[in-house]
Amino acid sequence: MKPIKKNVYYFWLILLVIQFACNLPIRSLPFNRPTLPDLLASTNQEEWAGWIRRLSGAETVIIAGEPALITTRYNYAMFTGQPNARAFDYILEQASALAPQGQIEIDPYPYTDAERTYTWNNLIVTLPGNTRPQESILLTAHLDSIVTRRGNALEAAPGADDNATGVATLLEGLRLFPRYRFERSIRLIFFSGEELGLAGSRAYLQDHDTTGMVGVINLDMFGYDSNGDRCFEVHVGTLPNSDIIGRSFTDTIQTFGLNLHYDYLTSGATDRSDHTAFWEKNVGAITAVQNFFDDKLPDGCLDVDGTPYYHKPEDTIEKLNLSYGFDIARAALLTTARLAGPLD
Ligand SMILES: [Zn+2]
Repeated sequence: MKPIKKNVYYFWLILLVIQFACNLPIRSLPFNRPTLPDLLASTNQEEWAGWIRRLSGAETVIIAGEPALITTRYNYAMFTGQPNARAFDYILEQASALAPQGQIEIDPYPYTDAERTYTWNNLIVTLPGNTRPQESILLTAHLDSIVTRRGNALEAAPGADDNATGVATLLEGLRLFPRYRFERSIRLIFFSGEELGLAGSRAYLQDHDTTGMVGVINLDMFGYDSNGDRCFEVHVGTLPNSDIIGRSFTDTIQTFGLNLHYDYLTSGATDRSDHTAFWEKNVGAITAVQNFFDDKLPDGCLDVDGTPYYHKPEDTIEKLNLSYGFDIARAALLTTARLAGPLD
């Protein structure tokens, strides 16, 4: 073992004297870097937007070494091997590369329509916690898309806003979270079938126990901001546990100085996304959405800023305000990390 040189002691002694003289907490020592500012600085808008481009057919992807173009993520196309709908395969391959130590689970569920029963999949990636792995923070988004006319959906449902913005955020989380250690487990869930009656999230909660689920941040469509007011909606609902997650989300926006405004919706929250399946099981959950609903809250978003491209083949990336969506993505990633309890 190498002996410690004497001048190392002097270095520490001088640092401790400076600490006491300035009345600084030990944590503020420069080499004890706080994790969350580091995580914030590591987020990258170009990486995030790149996922949106590839998931919405604006850029070719490589799956199993072969090029492909994802022009739709409609469930009926995605799980029947249609060559223009391989988003699930693509995300599965990317998740395996980004989180090699993560636990990746393909979660099949039955879906029955008027004609027959199909087997569809959710994708779950668990990054195990270090000190309280049985407790988990869920960051979720639906990966499927739809357009109003079913025949068209099989061909072109780019869903850049709805909901490649959410999926891109989970993939950015998969790029960054494995660099850090957390007390609790982080579970990133890509639901399918959201556009067909929240099928994926409801199925997930039928065969997964809610024990240890501390809270859920669900992301659904948050890149459209035509008036540039940077206002979005946090759908919290009325469960006390949801309020804890919602408060943590808005506190993150203030603490890290993200340039965002929001409606904080409790009794007026929507039930039209995957958080609803968690509310039904009494699990605290919120959904972040662009200014899609006309909520008329005091101090909230002015009116409504509804997208004319909702569930249309024109929901493409160039319609989005990327810096606005990216700040909401960062708020979600930071809140997930805070709730998971970062370990230095
Ligand atoms: Zn959606």
